[in-house]
Amino acid sequence: MLEEKSMSEEPPPTKYVVEIVVPEKPPPTPKQFVQDLKGVAGGKQIARMKKEAVACPVLNKTVSFVQCFACPNFIRRVKGRVDCRGLPLPSA
Ligand code: SF4
Repeated sequence: MLEEKSMSEEPPPTKYVVEIVVPEKPPPTPKQFVQDLKGVAGGKQIARMKKEAVACPVLNKTVSFVQCFACPNFIRRVKGRVDCRGLPLPSA
């Protein structure tokens, strides 16, 4: 059996799988990241995402899921986890 595979459709490699948590006191969501989401997610969705957070292994701190979603390292969200490229980021 032959499988056709196009390299361009390969997802980028995942370096970290990061758990999404809902902390009692979510980290602040910088406005610029919310701006990035407008048009991509609805208001209710954004409100929910603001309550979620990830312990980012690259920035070495807990950030809002909104920030994570807008991050160039974000690959996908599956089952409460984020697949992260883990490349260096300009610290935010
Ligand atoms: S996608 Fe970005 S913010 Fe999210 S865990 Fe990876 S480096 Fe951190």
